[in-house]
Amino acid sequence: MKLDIYLNENFKIEKEYILSVIFEDILGCKCTFHYLNNLTNYKIVCPNDKEIIIDDIFFKSLDSHSWEELDFPKSSFDSNINFEDNHSLFGIYGDSRIKLDNKSIRLSNDIIGTAFIFLTRVEEFRQNHDRLGRYQYKGSLAEKYNILNRPIINEYISFLKECIKHFFPDAIFKKMDYKVMLTHDIDTIKRWTFKHFMKHTIFNFGSKKYFPGFISLFESKYKKKDPYMNFKEIMDISDKYNLQSIFLFMTLENADNEFLYDINHIKTEINEIHESGNHFVGIHPGKSTYNSKESMRKEIDSLKKIINEDILYSRQHYLMFDIKNTWRLLNDNKIKYDLTLGYPEKIGFRCGICYPYRVFDFSKRKKLDLIEIPLIIMDVTLTKYMNEYSYSSLIDELRIVINNVKKFDGRLNIIWHNNSFYDYKNTQHEKLFFDIISLSKKNDYLKLN
Ligand SMILES: [Zn+2]
Repeated sequence: MKLDIYLNENFKIEKEYILSVIFEDILGCKCTFHYLNNLTNYKIVCPNDKEIIIDDIFFKSLDSHSWEELDFPKSSFDSNINFEDNHSLFGIYGDSRIKLDNKSIRLSNDIIGTAFIFLTRVEEFRQNHDRLGRYQYKGSLAEKYNILNRPIINEYISFLKECIKHFFPDAIFKKMDYKVMLTHDIDTIKRWTFKHFMKHTIFNFGSKKYFPGFISLFESKYKKKDPYMNFKEIMDISDKYNLQSIFLFMTLENADNEFLYDINHIKTEINEIHESGNHFVGIHPGKSTYNSKESMRKEIDSLKKIINEDILYSRQHYLMFDIKNTWRLLNDNKIKYDLTLGYPEKIGFRCGICYPYRVFDFSKRKKLDLIEIPLIIMDVTLTKYMNEYSYSSLIDELRIVINNVKKFDGRLNIIWHNNSFYDYKNTQHEKLFFDIISLSKKNDYLKLN
């Protein structure tokens, strides 16, 4: 499918980035860009000259490249249109008008600018970080406009696809497949440290976990069977549900801050995963790597040496991420997929999308090879941060988010820590993992609205 796209030269690189992600990388069209200086909109032209016209408002509103000083509109709106499907397009720049005639469709809602804001995470240049340096959900645009459980860019893409089909019925697009990505950040492999032993002795006295705890402690110490060394058990669960697991390992050394285990002690286990054929090994870079070139390189190299290959997958420990550096550092170390971008505090769509996409580096003003696969659901988000939710309202939230991923054939990127499989046993969270897996089955699709 060929498209001609007309636009003005203002923020040319940034505009070409977002248009190429949407129309080329995701929809699979071949685009030719034409620059006309007096244009006040984007014109996406089909081979039969029919057009989609979208007002260019966001980039026009910028007068410099100072992303730190960006100020976003106070309120949002939705533009509604009925094609084959009902479409509701979230907007913050422009207004909700849509005009359709035989030759064109015109949007006063600048969905291209809004897509740029959410995919590039440009809002994260603003000061809204927690004490660890992580950009917070509280105070984010997703919170402000109440859209975290809505993949707004997927909604745009499905609308654009239908517009093109409407004007040019022969259009063919890239096919997307719904896929569950089960991932495990391996923060620890030792249940029984001295501290844990003391805690168990004091807090579980008299509970039904008390004696089993001591048996497990004994096995861990004398039979090298720690309950957190459960990679085989996790792979079996994953196989049973027809899923693939990605295990993300930390490679900190003894002298490093927050050192938790020595990667060299589990080389055999790592290679068993790597050679399983069905499951994958990735890196879980430590807290300091997110803006340190040196630590990032060192930690990735340590894992490379163990599996003798480039590392494909990565997720930052604590979801530490700095819009100014982290993507570029991962890209420089030949990481192919970053799995970091979800909010710790709430499940949903931090990037407004559930498709993998190539990221934008602001300092070099270019599209990197690195692909972000946004994080959608994390175990501790549900059990710790969202602990004011009742079990049934948690399941309701999960159902909305998961059905949105299914609706758009996206990637459902889930974190379930290795220790959660053990720690949640005999607690109110024990069912949670299996409920999520059953909600995420393809045939469980419930059409929303
Ligand atoms: Zn971690």
